Amino acid sequence: MSDDLAERIASGERRALARAVTLVESTRPDHQAQAAELLEKLRGLNRQALRIGLSGTPGVGKSTFIESFGMALVRTGLRVAVLAVDPSSARSGGSILGDKTRMDMLSREPNAFIRPTPSSAALGGVARRTREAIALCEAANFDVVLIETVGVGQSETMVAQMCDLFVLLLAPAGGDELQGVKRGIMEMADLILINKADGDLKATATRTVSDYSGALRLLRKRPQDPKGFPKALAVSAVAGNGLEQAWSEMQSLAAWRRDNGHWDRARADQAAHWFEHEVREGLLARLREDEAVKGAMADLARAVAEGEATPTAAAREILEKLR
Ligand code: GDP
Repeated sequence: MSDDLAERIASGERRALARAVTLVESTRPDHQAQAAELLEKLRGLNRQALRIGLSGTPGVGKSTFIESFGMALVRTGLRVAVLAVDPSSARSGGSILGDKTRMDMLSREPNAFIRPTPSSAALGGVARRTREAIALCEAANFDVVLIETVGVGQSETMVAQMCDLFVLLLAPAGGDELQGVKRGIMEMADLILINKADGDLKATATRTVSDYSGALRLLRKRPQDPKGFPKALAVSAVAGNGLEQAWSEMQSLAAWRRDNGHWDRARADQAAHWFEHEVREGLLARLREDEAVKGAMADLARAVAEGEATPTAAAREILEKLR
C-alpha cells in the first residue's frame, strides 16, 4: 500500500500527498507507523524545495499575499505548496487557512497544494507534523513551500527553524509603531514586506519601508546574509505590486546562500535542532506516561511551587528515575 502511495507522491500526485499529510497528522499508532515508513522511503529522493516562512499578525494580509504571490509563482511554471502553523487553533478550534475561499484562485490551480491546519492538533505535535508535511511536499516535487504562521508566541521561531527564508509581513504604520515589532522577530527576518502599499496607504508604506530599512541596518550582521540583506520592501497583495521584486530578492538570497555553503549548513543545523527537540519531547512524553513518575512529577511540582524544593533538586529526583 505504502509503496504505491510513495510512488504516487513521487510522481507529484496531489491526492496522494493529501493522504500522506493526513497520515502524518494522525495520532493513531498504525498511521504513524505508516507515515514513518513512507517518509523513510521518500527520503531517498533527496528533493529540496525553497521553504519560505511567512509571518504576520492577523489582518496584515497573509492569505491575500499568499493567493497573489502563489499565483504569480504558478504562472511562471512553479509548483507551490502552502501549509499553515497556527498553535492557537489547537485551543480555539479555529484555523487559519481553514476557509479555503481565502485563497480561491490558488486552491483551484493544479500546480498548487493548500493544506489548512488541523484544528484538533495537539500543540506539542505541531512542529513534527509541519516538518513532515514539508518533507512530503518536497518529495512530491513542489518547488516552493510557503509556511504561514500567525505572529504569536513561539510559532514564528519554530517556523523559522524549518525554513530557508523567513519573511515578515507588516502593515504600513507610523514611526512609533516600529517599536511594536519585537526585536527578536526582526532579527529572524530575511525580508520584511510592508503590505497594502496601494491607494491612501501608499505614502505611509513607503515611509514605513525606510523606517524598517534603517532599523534593519542597525541589527547585528549575520554571516548568512549577503550585502543589502535583510531587506525591507513595499508590496500590495491586492494590486499585485512588488511581488515580482519580492520573488527576485528571495531567489537571489537563496542562490547566494547556496553558493556560499549557508544553505546546507542551515539545513544541517536545523536537522540537528529537531533531532534534539524530538529526543526531549520523547523523554518528557515517556516520563508522563509512567504512572509512578507522573505522581512524583505532580508532587514535586507542588513542592517546588510551595518553595519546599528547588527546581534543580526536584528535576534531579525525576531524572534519577530514568536510570
Ligand atoms: P491575514 O489575516 O493576515 O490572512 O489577512 P487577510 O489576507 O485576510 O487580509 C486582511 C484584510 O486586509 C482583508 O480585508 C484584505 O482585503 C486586506 N488586504 C490584504 N492585502 C491588501 C493589500 O495589499 N492592500 C489593501 N488595501 N488591502 C489588503
